Formats: sequence, C-alpha cells, structure tokens
Amino acid sequence: MTSNSLRVRDVAYHIHPQTNLALHEQVGPTVMARGEGAYVYDDDGRQYIEGMAGLWCAALGLSETRLARAAQKQFETLPYYQNFAHRSTGPAVDLAERLIQLAPVPMSKVLFQSSGSEANDTAIKLAWYYFHALGRPEKRKIIGRRRAYHGTSIATASLTGLPHLHRDFNLPLDGFLHVSCPHHYREARPGETEEAFATRLAEELEALILAEGPETVAAFFAEPVMGTGGVVVPPATYFAKVQEVLRRHDVLLVVDEVITGFGRTGAWWGTQSLDIQPDMITCAKALTAAYMPLSALLVSDRIYAAMREQSAKIGVFGHGYTYGAHPVACAVALEALRIYEEDGLIDHAARVGARLGAGLRRLSDHPLVGEVRGIGLMWGVELVRSKRSRQPFPANRKMPADVQQRAFENGLVVRALGDAVVFAPPLIIDDAQVDAALDRFHAALDGSLAAYLAGGGELDAAA
Ligand code: PLP
Repeated sequence: MTSNSLRVRDVAYHIHPQTNLALHEQVGPTVMARGEGAYVYDDDGRQYIEGMAGLWCAALGLSETRLARAAQKQFETLPYYQNFAHRSTGPAVDLAERLIQLAPVPMSKVLFQSSGSEANDTAIKLAWYYFHALGRPEKRKIIGRRRAYHGTSIATASLTGLPHLHRDFNLPLDGFLHVSCPHHYREARPGETEEAFATRLAEELEALILAEGPETVAAFFAEPVMGTGGVVVPPATYFAKVQEVLRRHDVLLVVDEVITGFGRTGAWWGTQSLDIQPDMITCAKALTAAYMPLSALLVSDRIYAAMREQSAKIGVFGHGYTYGAHPVACAVALEALRIYEEDGLIDHAARVGARLGAGLRRLSDHPLVGEVRGIGLMWGVELVRSKRSRQPFPANRKMPADVQQRAFENGLVVRALGDAVVFAPPLIIDDAQVDAALDRFHAALDGSLAAYLAGGGELDAAA
C-alpha cells in the first residue's frame, strides 16, 4: 500500500532527469528503500548488486557508518557556514590541504562547489578569467569531444558532446567546439593502429585550433577515461600527442576527474593512469563517496596567480556558491579519503576491477558482444548485431536497454549508454559479488539474445 502510493505520488509530483517523462508516467519508478554495502534494496525487499555505484559515485557502497558519524559530528558542531569574503571552516581548510597533498601533479589551490557541473562550469570561467588577466580576452573558445560528458548546466552541456543534451535547449552556446571521440573500436579506420589513430586525432585537434585561430582558443576539456560516453579508454599515446598540440598553441588542459577521481581507474586519479599534465582538475562524486554533494576544482600556480591578480584589480573574485565548501560535505569527504587510504581501497579497486574485466572479457565470444573495454572498476561492453562489421543494433531495437532491464530483473544494476552496457560498482565490491554480477549479466545477455532471435531478429555472429 505504502509503496504503491509512493509510486503514484512519484508520477504525480516528481520530475526525473535523463528520463523519458511520458514513458515514466506509464512505468513509474522503482523506489529504492535501503542500502547495505554494494547492495541496494527496493521497497519490495528485492536485492540488487549496485553495479553502477548509483551514478559512478557511491564508492563506499550504501551503508558506511563512518561517513554517517562524520556528518553527524559536523552537523552538531557547525552544520553550515559560508566561505565568501574571508570566512572559512576547519573541514574546508583540512580538505583543501588534503587535496593539494593528493593531487596527481603539482597544484596550488582548491575551490569548492556542490556538483560536477558546477566544478566544470567554474573551470570554464577560470579559463576565461585567466586569459583576461593575460590581456588576451579574445582567447575564449572551449573544445570538448564528441560523447564526452561534463554536466548539464548551460556551459557544461555545451561542452558535453552528446546530442540529446543540446537538442531543443538552444545548445551548444557559441564558442564551444567538439573533436572526435577517441574510441578506437568505433572511430579508427580499417587497419589503423592505436598510435596512428591517436596521431590522427591530435592532428584533427590541431587543424581545428588553426582553423579557429589559436589566439581564440582557451581550453580543452577531457575525462581521462570517458564515462557516460560508454567507458572509452583512449588509445595509446593519445594524451601525449594531444598535450603537445595544446602546449604549442597555449591552450589550457582541464581534466575532468568527476568520475575517475579517487580510485575508479585503479589509481587515485585518472590523470595518473593516463599520464596527463593538466592545468586544472575537477572532481566530485567519490570525493564524498556521494554521501554529500561536493565538488572541487584544483588549479595550478599559473591559474591561481592570474586569479589573484584579476581579483585585486577588480576588487573581488566575483564568483561563488552558497553551498561551496559546505562544512558537513567537507567533513564527510575527509572521512571518505581516510577510508580509501586506511582500507587500501585504491589497490582493492585495481584488483577486483581486473577480476571484473577478465570476467567480462570471457564474454567476448557471446554473440551479442563486440568489444569489452575498461580500466580499474569502470567497464563497458559494446553490443553489436555483427561482430564482423561491428554494426550496432538499430536504435529502435533498444538492445542495450533490453540487457540493462533483464540484468535489473536478475538483481544487477548496470547502465545502457549508447551501444554499450557499463559497469562501475562501488570500490568496496568483493570477489563473490563481482562473480555474481558476472553471472547475472551473462544471463541477461542470454535472455536478450533469445528474445531477439525469437522475435525474428537476425545476427551476423561470424567473428
Ligand atoms: N563530469 C563527468 C565526467 C561526469 O560523469 C558528470 C556526471 O556524471 C559530471 C561532470 C557532472 O556532474 P554532476 O551531475 O554532479 O553535475
């Protein structure tokens, strides 16, 4: 009765992002009621392995009492304070210092927001502020990549390379440009090696910068490994070659570690896994293990020096959010970082991630599977109608969504993104849970295949 009424009231009152709203009125929500480690339970008591850590974020699972205690302690001491105009709090200072210590490349200072979108939005503004400080205000175009995801604010949706985030929203804004997605399986030419593909993409980037005029291009944004684009690990030498181009044309590099930060790639940072030298880094999600909303923007010395100069000249650094550096969120983040370290969770993620990756690779022979790709604890399985030609299923077949739904019915949360189904479980997932997730996923693939064939669907299963 209660849960029924929840479903009815959800449809009546609650708008769901990234959802077909008309379809939602028919199917309603699954209401999640409680969590326990890597498991989540719906309000009918059904258990699911949370194979996506929510939205790639609940790194410590869904019942970490140390985080609850850290929050409670801060709630009882100072539940809120702001950080505008020379005010600060202990947790904000401690967390800023800790992040500078942990930073994968030398960084100078930290600016806090509440979401990944806000962190990237701020990074865009700082790229503009930086070039104003240098007396080059015309250097303001921002380059992202197709299939990249950087958020849904007006500027970060513009930067994002997914058409459904632009369509009918009057986006992207002018001055936001996109280059190719570094997905070798889909974008490489026949016979093109990873290195040759990387060279071609770096040349494409340089050609765009030259065509636009290097004096008009401010920054390039990249996730070390694309998440929402379907888990895309760039080809060997990609970042080395891209960075050469950026340096040549004095274009800033902003690395979006909103998903990859704090263990997701099997290292503390994706920047380390992919050997990148960013000018700014954004992070969020696992920063608090998602128990509180918090994001951070780490800036290098030269960015900070420009901000300092501009704010002194103008009289104020005219930017900030009411909830930036929220003391409860900062206290939770500090505790999450302690847990990652004390429990050796970064190494654990690398180890169980390798187990998950190996298990998924064993499914490469499955008739539906075209490619298995990933790093650490983020993996994508590309579904194809033809292994030989790599042809995806027609969009109206909704094959990835079908596999996602069957996995869900089997007690596993995974996510259909583009032509892939992706995994990003909590870092605390254990071997037995990984194996169970693999079994449930395999059964989902088999179920989708059987239903497809039974419905008269055809497959070209030749390798
Ligand atoms: N950047 C990346 C790489 C993301 O995956 C996301 C969200 O999934 C964001 C930015 C936006 O973060 P938020 O949803 O907290 O605004």
